[in-house]
Amino acid sequence: MLKVLFVSSEAVPFAKTGGLADVSGTLPRALKEIGVDARLVLPFYRMAREQKFNYKLLAEDLEVTLGKQTVKGDIRTLLTEENDCLFYLVEKEEFYDRSNLYGTPKGDYFDNAARFIFFSKMVFALCEKLNFFPDIIHCNDWQSGLIPCYLKTVYRKDPRFAKTASIFSIHNVAYQGLFSREAFDLTGLPPELFSIAGVEFWGKISFMKAGIVFADIVNTVSETYSREIQTEEFGYGLEGILRTRKKDLYGVLNGADYEEWNPATDAFIASPYSLEDLTGKPKCKQDLLKAFSLSEELLSVPLLGVISRLADQKGFDLLAQIMDKLMTMDLGFVLLGTGDEKYNELFTLIGGKYPKKTGIKIAYDNTLAHKIEAGCDMFLMPSRYEPCGLNQIYSLKYGTIPIVRATGGLDDTIQEFNPSSGKGTGFKFKQYDANKLLKTIKKALTLYNDKGKWEKLIKNAMDADFSWKISAKKYVELYRKALAKLGNPGD
Ligand code: ADP
Repeated sequence: MLKVLFVSSEAVPFAKTGGLADVSGTLPRALKEIGVDARLVLPFYRMAREQKFNYKLLAEDLEVTLGKQTVKGDIRTLLTEENDCLFYLVEKEEFYDRSNLYGTPKGDYFDNAARFIFFSKMVFALCEKLNFFPDIIHCNDWQSGLIPCYLKTVYRKDPRFAKTASIFSIHNVAYQGLFSREAFDLTGLPPELFSIAGVEFWGKISFMKAGIVFADIVNTVSETYSREIQTEEFGYGLEGILRTRKKDLYGVLNGADYEEWNPATDAFIASPYSLEDLTGKPKCKQDLLKAFSLSEELLSVPLLGVISRLADQKGFDLLAQIMDKLMTMDLGFVLLGTGDEKYNELFTLIGGKYPKKTGIKIAYDNTLAHKIEAGCDMFLMPSRYEPCGLNQIYSLKYGTIPIVRATGGLDDTIQEFNPSSGKGTGFKFKQYDANKLLKTIKKALTLYNDKGKWEKLIKNAMDADFSWKISAKKYVELYRKALAKLGNPGD
């Protein structure tokens, strides 16, 4: 049985800031279902600690070195009811018992380098303690980017890890874990690795570069994004390094967890509905309007929704430019999001300016996210870039028509609706331009008035299938490719 240790800095249901948590919470389960011994390790954040789970202390006082210091940490574990996937949580109060995962709206925590060097080293300490030496360590984003580097250098001659291959998944290349030279000294890596061929990046240490350079296989979360990040526009400086790994660089689309995101079974929404029976959807719209204290008059006009981290990546500058024009039209707009202070303020202002037509909630609220998916008619994602994007995939399942910019995973998952052929699942625009966004919204609004065609579009959307099963199989193929490089058959 293939043994995979999945390393992630966040995972549902323990702690989440974005899509990575959805992926990390679901992919290991999907792998398990196809016969892989997949286990997940993540930090024991306060958010995880506060969940009412029956965590057990598995190992105490494991020691790792941070620079010249020896630092101790514990491991918690949690068995699911079905004895399903095994979870390991790295416990260290001074690092992880904080209000947020990576920082506050004002900026990142000052010691993020130490927090995630420690986490990476604890992954090895955990394997040693459990005598569990996986075939694959599957790392995700910069927080675990050093692990492939440790495997290929510090542990290269350790027979216990000789057959362990690594894969590094990039969920967002813009967040790179770039730290000053002092952070390198904490890693314990050989000094020669602070070089262009190693982990150095313009005088700093880049955890993401470490993952890209040293992993056996690298992937991103959509085919289009895997090509985009090799260009200057999307590579955030790492495009050259990514191009050197071109032969080992793949794109695997994320799946959706349809146990969590399915209007037929969703416990958070006012009324269930399905492809066969859509009568519950207007009730969800009514309930959503109520949640935002909006008038029921909006029931008869299209309701546009947004759920997002409020970050530059997500295209809110475009939305801001057209907001006044949008508000002259017959529609409603709801937004749930939190993030950069400038966007928190901007949307609060918009809410104040148009109280009758907009509902704005600056917060993180999973229940409301479900209500928005179910209650809206259209879902906006005008992202500047989008590695995969999950909300548009959830929107499809809820028959809430995505209006997206054709970039990354948005381009790969949404097919432009063609009114003549009746094919397609949403609306797309290519050029990053506010007028193009407005034009595309207008196109959707026009089609909305053609009830027959709109219903066909809803049905196409709800019929699209992005379940994890297909992607999990693709990951197994990548694991095999990585193992082949080490001559490990992985059986
Ligand atoms: P990203 O990972 O870039 O944030 P994704 O679309 O891949 O974007 O994933 C976003 C995930 O986070 C979705 O599950 C979405 O529902 C959730 N999410 C984002 N912001 C909020 C919020 N303010 N409240 C609730 N859920 C949110």
